[in-house]
Amino acid sequence: MQTLGILGGGQLARMLVEAGVPLGVRFSIVDQVADACAGQLAPLSTVGWDAPEKLEAFAHEVDVATFDFENVPAHTAEWLSARTRVAPNALALATAQDRVLEKTMFRGCGLPTTEFAPVATRAGLDAALAKIGAPAILKTRREGYDGKGQFRLKTAADANAAWAALGMHAATRGLILEAFVPFDYEASVIAVRAASGEFRAWPVTRNWHVNGILSTSLAPTVHGQSIGHAAAAHARAIAEHLDYVGAFTVELFVLGDELLGNEMAPRVHNSGHWTIEGAVTSQFENHVRAVMGMPLGDTAVRFPSCMLNWIGELPDRDKLIALPGVHWHDYGKAPRPGRKVGHATVCASDAATLAKRLEQVGRAVGREAQVAPVIEACRHDHL
Ligand code: AMP
Repeated sequence: MQTLGILGGGQLARMLVEAGVPLGVRFSIVDQVADACAGQLAPLSTVGWDAPEKLEAFAHEVDVATFDFENVPAHTAEWLSARTRVAPNALALATAQDRVLEKTMFRGCGLPTTEFAPVATRAGLDAALAKIGAPAILKTRREGYDGKGQFRLKTAADANAAWAALGMHAATRGLILEAFVPFDYEASVIAVRAASGEFRAWPVTRNWHVNGILSTSLAPTVHGQSIGHAAAAHARAIAEHLDYVGAFTVELFVLGDELLGNEMAPRVHNSGHWTIEGAVTSQFENHVRAVMGMPLGDTAVRFPSCMLNWIGELPDRDKLIALPGVHWHDYGKAPRPGRKVGHATVCASDAATLAKRLEQVGRAVGREAQVAPVIEACRHDHL
């Protein structure tokens, strides 16, 4: 039996364990906190990964190491690579950790992005604004997630406020100014690549964010199918450029039939959670297969599916699992504002039935506002 080590013990690690155990894989998890929720399912040691030497025992114990968290320092991934197989590689992590490197890489691989410029000083912000124009978004280059570390500038007059909000990060995390994209909708392409170069993508997923945090995902959609080939080709070019092994996601802005790359997650991703029930093989199972050197599984859709994130606290489980087509995922985390504590995926045989089921779900637990845009999309987009 082979052991897969995971750096980071959150819900992504937890779902990797759920997918990998039936394949006969053992797990060993390290996290900086002792009560990380994947520790409820697999052995977890508390280790800081700032100093790689602390991972000596972990490196000995595991056959392959992977990540549930992309901000593990790239030098830690490099140190590990000298001792065990690591997937994805340190280059993929380092590129995805820095929005400037990431967008530059997207462009180099043929995926357009919005206009952007690195910002190092207050005067540099004015120069970037002069180049890019407003509206724009100032973001930290590194360590931003779920809409944190971002400031929206409606006009150039907001530059002082933007600097007051984020200027203190200029020297440490770096800053980037991006032209605001008037997208029709947000989407993601979830894909997987094996060490042999074998590549598969799931159908394009449509995503809705609230306050910068993913709220709901829907797949497949008719428009998603029409841009699916292009999205998968971009994902493939990126994976080949990075010599990427494992599952990953590229987040996209969609304007008509045009795709702009926003960012990539070098790991399984929240917008791919629907694949657990909605696809023949989930992103979690295919990630385990890819990094352990097993054949990849079919990424075809089984059911039109909608994933609903539970942020802060879980709604009433029993009211929801009593409804048809509802699949429940409790991450075993303590409730806390802004924290992802679970999700549900609602599946149906067709879009009209999915819309009806989502109505029932929204009514049952007072989440009408969360399901409303998805119901609207199901009605206009006959999956
Ligand atoms: P990010 O952390 O880059 O994924 O940004 C979080 C969310 O902010 C995205 O999912 C979008 O909803 C929004 N956003 C980020 N960048 C832009 C942009 N350049 N133009 C418009 N909206 C954006």
